[in-house]
Amino acid sequence: AANGPDPLVDGLNPAQARAVVARGPALLIVAGAGSGKTRVLTHRIAHLIRNREAWPSQILAITFTNKAAAEMRERIDGLLGSGAEGMWVSTFHSACVRILRREAERFGYVSGFTIYDSADSRALLKRIIKELDADTYGFTPANAGSKISRLKNELTDADAYSKTMNESDPRDRLFVEIFKQYEQELRRANAFDFDDLIGQTVHLFRAHPDVAAIYQRRFRHILVDEYQDTNHAQYSLIRELTRPVEPEEVERLVPPIRDRELDASGRIPAASLTVVGDSDQSIYAFRGADIRNIVEFERDFAGAEVVKLEQNYRSTQNILTAANAVIGNNFDRQEKNLWTAEGDGERIVGFTGYSQHDEARFVAEEVEDLHRAGLNYSDIAVFYRTNSQTRALEELLIRSAIPYRVLGGTKFYERAEIKDAMAYLTSIANPYDPITWSRLLGAPKRGIGPMAEAHLANFQEAQGINFHEAMLRCDELSFGPKVRGAILSLAEMLTRAAKMAAGDPEHDQAPAPVGDLLKLILDETEMIEKLRAKRDPQDDARAENLEELVAVAREFDVKQPGAGLIAFLTEVSLVAAADDLDDSSGTVSLMTMHTAKGLEFKAVFITGVEEGLLPHQMSVDEVGGINEERRLMYVGITRARERLYLTLASTRAVFGDVSVAMPSRFLQEIPEGLIDWRQSPGEVTSRGGTESRALNAPRGSGYGGSGSGSRSRTDSSVSFGSSGGYSSAAVSEPASGNMQSALDKWRERKKAAKQAQA
Ligand code: ATP
Ligand code: MG
Repeated sequence: AANGPDPLVDGLNPAQARAVVARGPALLIVAGAGSGKTRVLTHRIAHLIRNREAWPSQILAITFTNKAAAEMRERIDGLLGSGAEGMWVSTFHSACVRILRREAERFGYVSGFTIYDSADSRALLKRIIKELDADTYGFTPANAGSKISRLKNELTDADAYSKTMNESDPRDRLFVEIFKQYEQELRRANAFDFDDLIGQTVHLFRAHPDVAAIYQRRFRHILVDEYQDTNHAQYSLIRELTRPVEPEEVERLVPPIRDRELDASGRIPAASLTVVGDSDQSIYAFRGADIRNIVEFERDFAGAEVVKLEQNYRSTQNILTAANAVIGNNFDRQEKNLWTAEGDGERIVGFTGYSQHDEARFVAEEVEDLHRAGLNYSDIAVFYRTNSQTRALEELLIRSAIPYRVLGGTKFYERAEIKDAMAYLTSIANPYDPITWSRLLGAPKRGIGPMAEAHLANFQEAQGINFHEAMLRCDELSFGPKVRGAILSLAEMLTRAAKMAAGDPEHDQAPAPVGDLLKLILDETEMIEKLRAKRDPQDDARAENLEELVAVAREFDVKQPGAGLIAFLTEVSLVAAADDLDDSSGTVSLMTMHTAKGLEFKAVFITGVEEGLLPHQMSVDEVGGINEERRLMYVGITRARERLYLTLASTRAVFGDVSVAMPSRFLQEIPEGLIDWRQSPGEVTSRGGTESRALNAPRGSGYGGSGSGSRSRTDSSVSFGSSGGYSSAAVSEPASGNMQSALDKWRERKKAAKQAQA
């Protein structure tokens, strides 16, 4: 690569180029935001393929979202012209689903297994908790579910957990019971929950070295983006995939091994591993992400080379200075300083609204201004900390006729009517899942009540048959004629659908396209007609969603002809869980800061920069919570290329309660001179209208500045200018007077509000 011009290396800086051409067993690229980590990964893959060092099929690239995977694939295609087919570029979850679908039979699942989304998991847990009366011990589907999820991310199953639990604690014993039943029910339903996808793949590899060997042999180059956010299960998966294949397994491999695949000791050497990450962007600790994976990389993977990147190619210097200043307040990090050759750029714009509506109005107006100044809507993103913030923003965007879309909010596939229709398709692939069956029996209503459903379920279980068979044999149960008729006609329709889905090789009949299957189901159940007949605009929207689903299926049939039902179900469950289906052309993107990871936009609005929101209330009492929130702020800021807006509101309604909101401590950490306040917190405070509204605010909701939740944060001065023992830039700068007095006023006002309450 050193001689002659090379488009894959030439545009890169020396450190980046080194990372592209390095060929050791392991490579770690650590670098700040926007320094070209993802770009280096992409070029490295293209370089490997173009130089014929690897076939595309020998490469496994892991990204954090499906969207990122699609983008990476596109970029590689762009670099190579074509020829990247057969390469796996996917999220951890989709890579694991592909493996599990192929290997499911080995551990008693069928390959049409269902993937439970979190709503399905919760539904199952709800039933278990009710049966065990565990709610009296304070268990909810949410808290039990997140504990189970945490354990699964640590690869701890119910059995292992029961060995470490506190025997004398009845609550703990009960939890083990919930966990055990949850595992059993999933298995009975032939279903995996989302965490299982990774955990079970690791389990499969460990229990079946011959299966592991297939993949260890196949993937010669494994590359992982956003490595700082991997959890233990994901880390373990990578460990399994990067083991050498021992001679005894080598012999069993099909197709047989060729000599050049082996090293001197008769093993297939371990795959080479490249990971890139930025510990300052680790924002998934709550899902078990472990920074240690990156910190200990060199120890874990012998012979690892480390490349550091410091030049940023994304943002202006002002944006970077703000980002550096904020993250500099985290003391548990390695110092690194991002810089750019691009120049200072515009100052950051700050705005404080009287309320979230006022804030949203400002955002909408600025978006319009940017648009008029020549930016595409798709160059603009609006971030927030919690999904509940979208409503006010959406209202104003709609009113201003600004096209937008919400990424990862209430998702298309979570809508009830979509889940209803999908239940039919799922039941064809996996007729063992009670959650699916319970759903489709009652959607639409056809007179099969809970009693009938229970009878069927008992019968199914006692006979050891699936639900479809149970329905076909419903004559063996004593149903009334109406129920019996409803069950049989439903069963008959599903039989037809299943036949279509399977195709008939003997008569040369290919499996039906998914769109046709779906059409059959919707026609026979009359789901769309029934919604239309209600003449309710909401139901009209539901009918349209179902039509959209048919369109999605048809598109899938065109894009992946012959791929079939199970492939469609897989795609839907993965897309549904991670990100959105439609593309961003021509719309402003709204998303949480978590979703924004890895993306970039010309203009970024970070909204709700308030204490209680950012940092979030929940993080305040948690060890390391504030530091994680600060990293989130850092992620948000570093998404911006040219323009950054930080907005907040001085009062905010949460669940109907209006409370006073304090500016976030993170604002204070940004050097004052960098922010051009269109309306500072102080200016809002000095106007009477807001004040009286705030004073009249009802009881605090534990959010923001008022009420019981705010004690330690906002009463004392700990939150401002002294986080982590560092005095922030703004405090030591004379220019900060304006801000400081504003903060003082805020405190006074909050105190007054509190007294008024008492
Ligand atoms: P993040 O930490 O946010 O994921 P990253 O380190 O992955 O960021 P990239 O997204 O790869 O950064 O790059 C940021 C931007 O800089 C992209 O638009 C990319 O095309 C551009 N870029 C990276 N390296 C170079 C370079 N050497 N020359 C020109 N542009 C570059
Ligand atoms: Mg990246």
